[in-house]
Amino acid sequence: MHSAEPEKATEKATELMKMSVARARLLSPLTGTSFAVDQTGLVIGGGVSGMTAALALAGQGFKVHLVEKSDRLGGRALDLRYTLEHEDISPFVAGIVKEAEEHPNIIFHLGADVTNVAGFIGQFKVSLFQDGTDSEVSCGAIIVATGAAPAATGEYLRGKDQGVITQLELEQRLQKGDFAPGRRNVVMIQCVGSRNEERPYCSRICCSMSVKNALKIKKLDPSAGVYVLYRDIRTYGFREKYYKQAREAGVIFIRYEPDAPPLVSQDNGLVVSVKSPDFPEPVEIETDCVVLSTGVDAAGDNRRVADMLKVPINADGFFVEAHLKLRPVEFATEGIFLCGLAHSPKHMDENISQARAAASRASTVLSKAYLEVGAQVSQVDQSKCISCMTCTKVCPYGAPTVNADHKAEIIAAKCMGCGICAAECPACAIQLNHFESRQFKDMLDELFRSGKEERRPAVVPEKSGVL
Ligand code: SF4
Ligand code: SF4
Ligand code: SF4
Repeated sequence: MHSAEPEKATEKATELMKMSVARARLLSPLTGTSFAVDQTGLVIGGGVSGMTAALALAGQGFKVHLVEKSDRLGGRALDLRYTLEHEDISPFVAGIVKEAEEHPNIIFHLGADVTNVAGFIGQFKVSLFQDGTDSEVSCGAIIVATGAAPAATGEYLRGKDQGVITQLELEQRLQKGDFAPGRRNVVMIQCVGSRNEERPYCSRICCSMSVKNALKIKKLDPSAGVYVLYRDIRTYGFREKYYKQAREAGVIFIRYEPDAPPLVSQDNGLVVSVKSPDFPEPVEIETDCVVLSTGVDAAGDNRRVADMLKVPINADGFFVEAHLKLRPVEFATEGIFLCGLAHSPKHMDENISQARAAASRASTVLSKAYLEVGAQVSQVDQSKCISCMTCTKVCPYGAPTVNADHKAEIIAAKCMGCGICAAECPACAIQLNHFESRQFKDMLDELFRSGKEERRPAVVPEKSGVL
């Protein structure tokens, strides 16, 4: 190390210490407050994830409002027939619906829409519209489980030729016995409408659905020709075992490149041609059934729900958790949690795990009779407020509101102490406790005091009244 460097480091440390002391002179004790918690939960969405979360809360003794837009429980699981493990899904779905319906702690709002959400963690007021009537329910925590929708497509003659169906339709026909074995060939095309510009994400479930349906066809008729045209096979985790089983059963997997997708023509019956990097010549397959592995779309209502709750959604319309690893089932806005397909496409077992995790996190709120409010929050000096509404627009947590006198007020329970409003307020009417302007002023005075005028900027940007 250069001989002058330790001296510089000591000088720097001394400066920082002096600045800290200057600030410490103006520190004052912070006292938090507490408020009562409404120990009732509310779940938006009556699919498997929503019902699982509601049952998990109800099982712990909490009352739960379950709000479902349609008039029946079950969500997307009602369309599925069997799992990759060859288990029948219907009895499971019927069982969970029955359990939820019979649970004395769950209050159902079927055919109901959430129209407004006010309040904050521990004390939410949720407006509902049901059967032409408005009502309001109170709750302490909200779980978002709004689900998702199967993506529609018009590619590969879908809608023009009856032989072109989706994996979901194939599954339903296989279960009904409406898919005659002895067909010429079944060709499955993967990533239809997924992993492209419109839907850049992988829908995660469609590779497993193809393997599941391919195995079912092979079980019905081992001589049936089943081809899967894929970009990558994403039967991740233990699902890889079923991919191996499908190969062993004689299902033929043919890779294609994203810039050379398969072509489906109707010239002489259905013919699928594909140019694979693994074959020197294009492959042509005559078939009477093309099965499209379409993706998963975010629920169309997600943006409206996100705006109401002031929580984020991503560019694809799915809700975004506060932190992928540290807060995976909750939003940055306290008291609001998420699970299921509303978050991202995933398998039912993953949705169920996530729903239980969300309920578990929500119960950490509902289990308390009172919640403490942190003292490091912003406060408004209403005599300075010029009612410009800047703070209401910039706060990411919706903490500032406007009172009857058109002056801003900050709901301490919602404030996360980020300080954005204090920095943006043009009238300097907001102070963030523990980080007040006068404390910063004294720190800067101390920095420039010790004869180091050369470091002072030639022009100090001024904002009237800031310091
Ligand atoms: S799961 Fe498979 S078919 Fe579906 S988008 Fe991902 S890679 Fe494509
Ligand atoms: S930004 Fe400042 S002046 Fe504007 S409404 Fe908020 S507190 Fe009042
Ligand atoms: S400090 Fe942050 S969270 Fe609190 S009111 Fe201001 S902008 Fe909102």
